Amino acid sequence: MSELSIVWFRRDLRVADNPALTKAVEMGGVLPIYIYDETDTDQSAKGSANSVWLHQSLKSLNASLDGKLRFFNGDPEEILPRLASEVSAKHVFWNRFYTPHRVTVDEGIKSALQEMGVDAKSFNGSLLWEPWQVTKADGSPYKVFTPFYRKGCMNAQRPRATLPAPEQVDFAEVELASQTLDALQLVPNMPWTSEVMKGWTVGEAGARAAWGNFVDGGLDGYKKGRDFPSKAHVSRLSPHLAFGEVSPHQIWAALEHQTDSEDVAHFKSELAWREFSYYLLFHFDEFATQNFNAKFDRFQWRTDNEALLKWQQGQTGIPIVDAGMRELWQTGYMHNRVRMIVASFLTKNLMLDWRLGADWFENCLVDADRANNRASWQWVAGCGADAAPYFRIFNPVTQSEKFDAAGDYIRQYVPEISDLPDKYLAKPFEAPSNILRQVGIQLGRDYPQPLVDLKKSRSRALDAFAALKEATES
Ligand SMILES: Cc1cc2nc3c(=O)[nH]c(=O)nc-3n(C[C@H](O)[C@H](O)[C@H](O)COP(=O)(O)OP(=O)(O)OC[C@H]3O[C@@H](n4cnc5c(N)ncnc54)[C@H](O)[C@@H]3O)c2cc1C
Repeated sequence: MSELSIVWFRRDLRVADNPALTKAVEMGGVLPIYIYDETDTDQSAKGSANSVWLHQSLKSLNASLDGKLRFFNGDPEEILPRLASEVSAKHVFWNRFYTPHRVTVDEGIKSALQEMGVDAKSFNGSLLWEPWQVTKADGSPYKVFTPFYRKGCMNAQRPRATLPAPEQVDFAEVELASQTLDALQLVPNMPWTSEVMKGWTVGEAGARAAWGNFVDGGLDGYKKGRDFPSKAHVSRLSPHLAFGEVSPHQIWAALEHQTDSEDVAHFKSELAWREFSYYLLFHFDEFATQNFNAKFDRFQWRTDNEALLKWQQGQTGIPIVDAGMRELWQTGYMHNRVRMIVASFLTKNLMLDWRLGADWFENCLVDADRANNRASWQWVAGCGADAAPYFRIFNPVTQSEKFDAAGDYIRQYVPEISDLPDKYLAKPFEAPSNILRQVGIQLGRDYPQPLVDLKKSRSRALDAFAALKEATES
């Protein structure tokens, strides 16, 4: 007997390997819906780049669903029971989202629907291992990545098998007031929005293409190559994963078909870092906003709005930092190595609070992902789980010389200094005046003087961390 199921799409904007959709198709008629809830900081797009991606991803999903996706704007706790009653749904299905707040709200929605006699069920669509599946022998959660992955994940149940896209979906024909995608007004009205999307193909097909390109040209050599920002050795799958246009299960299953190598193993471990980020967010309530290491609550972050603005605009006078921040603004993406460098510069050389950096990233990244972003910022700042030790302060010049030796990355994003010889590209402030004159660059006019002295600001940070250590250990 055909029974109507509502499928509530969230960060799972795909038709293949979508357990909630597959289940609904099995039951009979399907009503696919998307609810935009602007108060939901955990999963709704908040930043500008993220919103543009969401708009295009929903457009793509709607096309895959024969234009039958219905859009709503508001609170799912109110909308879902009302809809279920209006269309006499027998089932409401969705894929899980793992922040503590979302888990609580979703439980409430599930209970309300069940009380109405509606079968409400959630599925695992976005994590290889559900956070409660992986614990230490004493039942407590891991706080360190390596044992989490090597022991916890590897001893847990294997990731579930993937599901094919449904061959046919029987869409429910119902009278229902809903909105158009455009009415959600996800695309900010500024020219930047079309510029930032230029290098991307959004949607499930875009995710497949990114994966194909990576397997053809990037995976081989990934382990070493992933550190070099101008090499094509990273997958650029992050926005596709963040919006669920591809599931980690699909990638994991595809990797099992690759010949075993250190590159494949390393790529798997990066996917596991994503798992670890969600795991931390799930197990530690305030992880997204509070220092995981509470000692850092006493750390004296500086207040310096001008420095923050210069960092955001890529005008710090430190070329690799500026290149990264401009890549972010121009493309909605930043290479992982450079994310670490700019984050270290903000939290250590400038001594500004990691949350300011995380907020800016969430505004600008197309792959903005609450779990990955917050976990990574805490990691770099030194206050996170299994974090980089506080005394590890990236020297941006040495990092450039190591990972962008020929200067290709800096030249791409900081073209005003591209005529400098390689030797000075990472440190124009050390170039002799005759060299600067030869290439027609005047620091302070054509390119900024460094915002801080790298050595002095490093010592300042080390002193502040040492003081914190002393204060919290005494
Ligand atoms: C300060 C900072 C902020 C970050 N913010 C985000 C964010 O908002 N969203 C986001 O997806 N990633 C974030 N990352 C992690 C990482 O930089 C990106 O996932 C990666 O650069 C995305 O590019 P890719 O898909 O080409 O990576 P690949 O190297 O091809 O990796 C494949 C996938 O593995 C996962 N992954 C890789 N590295 C990490 C990592 N260190 N932590 C967690 N997952 C990882 C991602 O899902 C990624 O798409 C951040 C890192 C730092 C240092």
